[in-house]
Amino acid sequence: MERKNKTTGKVAGIIANLVIVEVDGPVAQNEICFISHPENKLMAEVIKILGKNVYVQVFESTRGLKVGTPVEFEGHLLEVSLGPGILSRNYDGLQNDLDKMDGVFLKRGDYTDPLDREKKWDWTPIAKEGDQVVAGSWLGEVPENSVPHRIMVPFKFQGTYTIKSIVAAGQYTVDDVVAVVTDREGNDIELTMVQKWPVKMAVKAYKEKPRPFKLLQTGTRTLDTLNPITEGGTGFIPGPFGTGKTVLQHAISKFADADIVIIAACGERANEVVEIFTEFPELEDPKTGRSLIERTTIIANTSNMPVAAREASVYTAMTLGEYYRSMGLKVVLMADSTSRWAQALREMSNRLEELPGPDAFPMDLTAIITSFYARAGFVYLNNGESGSITFIGTVSPAGGNLKEPVTESTRKAARCFYGLNQGRADSKRYPAIDPIDSYSKYLEYPEVQEYLKENIGENWLDNVLKTKTLLLRGKEAQEQINILGDDGVPLEFHEKFWNSELIDAVILQQDSFDKIDANCPMPRQKYMLEKVLEITDKKFKFETFEEVNGFFKRIINQLKQINYSEWESEKFKTHEKELEEIMNERLN
Ligand code: ADP
Ligand code: MG
Repeated sequence: MERKNKTTGKVAGIIANLVIVEVDGPVAQNEICFISHPENKLMAEVIKILGKNVYVQVFESTRGLKVGTPVEFEGHLLEVSLGPGILSRNYDGLQNDLDKMDGVFLKRGDYTDPLDREKKWDWTPIAKEGDQVVAGSWLGEVPENSVPHRIMVPFKFQGTYTIKSIVAAGQYTVDDVVAVVTDREGNDIELTMVQKWPVKMAVKAYKEKPRPFKLLQTGTRTLDTLNPITEGGTGFIPGPFGTGKTVLQHAISKFADADIVIIAACGERANEVVEIFTEFPELEDPKTGRSLIERTTIIANTSNMPVAAREASVYTAMTLGEYYRSMGLKVVLMADSTSRWAQALREMSNRLEELPGPDAFPMDLTAIITSFYARAGFVYLNNGESGSITFIGTVSPAGGNLKEPVTESTRKAARCFYGLNQGRADSKRYPAIDPIDSYSKYLEYPEVQEYLKENIGENWLDNVLKTKTLLLRGKEAQEQINILGDDGVPLEFHEKFWNSELIDAVILQQDSFDKIDANCPMPRQKYMLEKVLEITDKKFKFETFEEVNGFFKRIINQLKQINYSEWESEKFKTHEKELEEIMNERLN
């Protein structure tokens, strides 16, 4: 999009955040422009071109804007600045540093620098003089908190370059020249630690993207044990308001086995966003013992920010993820809630008077959501290393209706479905993920099955499938008991019901607010599932259904205590022993 002369224009019409600009030259779809508002310049993005009339969406309030106001086109798309110093930051959807502002909101027309230009980073070269490099090649490394941040050849570079010089280990700012490369024509190009990527168009910063196959440990039993997501996998959490979407996403952000966590908070409520800002810096990273925020970046938008900025935030978050993935890191990306994003798409589409699809969402909603989810994934880089972005979005279906367009479209895009059930939330069975309706398509991948066999256990998959069957049988038994009454069914029905209650209480339910139970690593999940299945396999002696109830309640209590005890501690072992004793009473 390099141009000799800047394209300019004049405001010709204003429909809320949508502005029509009459232009004097070429512009490109999604190009950025600035409107010279009397007080400040307003950033906007081209979303439709009709000859000389260009429709732009303004990222701020257009209050007071007048027809005839001059506009300047920038010749590039909406982009982010990438370099060390992104972690532990709070940005908005346009990568403004929220901590450099007064209060949570920017003044209109304020744009802050996303990177620290003064800070010196401890650089160690990886490449050396004379090396042949391509886009993405690692030139050097600086420690960013506890993360090795690789400085790479910019991804817009094409073909092969030769390193003419590279600076020695030492302290440099992001703008210092760290390497000079020579292209085929013999031109020298200076490289710093900063590069810019467009956000809406994925940069192919990898060699290949095979199907993901490694289990990503999230620490949440109902996910990892029953419906696991993979490193580089996709999943979504639909659920009515108040069923635990945000709590679940935060639990995953805190405990997932990831190098980097990126949270796109398109909050339902403004205080939810403020809560993460205050909560995350105080949390301890279970991996390093340091503050969790050291490997986290938060992109925050509240519903009172303009729609266009909300739309941009998920793309900005994904692009930051792709950047860290190309350093060979494991990224977990969370977006809460993607319904807010879809609503932003709907608002702009309606203002453009496009032909509407179901519920007035854009006709191509499924395509937009699918191509966004497709940017996640497990990749191999040119240097043979691997990286991943695991993406999980929440969806807030209006009235809990899972047939609404955003849920339906997301179902087509994501491989894991974690549906939150109102009834479970009402009875405080958290996380309220419905064990029967939810699924992970990854369990069907032969390479995932192989991985589980080798890394978790030979019988693991069989045990998982068996657990799902027991849950289903329990539900059926419960329905029969409800219809025919406690005395109207054989004892066996009560046993079936209680087997599923046991699984529910001990595997599915997990207290996000308990220090120990909040995070359950895989070896512990394996122990719990095997323990539970050992119990469901046993033939206990019962005379009455009351005996069945009483017995299972005691068993469940012991196992819950185990969940709340430090792994293999004295307390843990005491409850294990008591559990054996209770079981022995009803054996022989
Ligand atoms: P949503 O984002 O779906 O509107 P939230 O995530 O804010 O819902 O959850 C609502 C409330 O449900 C929380 O404030 C908390 O009290 C309760 N809750 C949700 N998940 C859990 C959990 N895993 N453990 C304990 N309480 C939970
Ligand atoms: Mg929420």
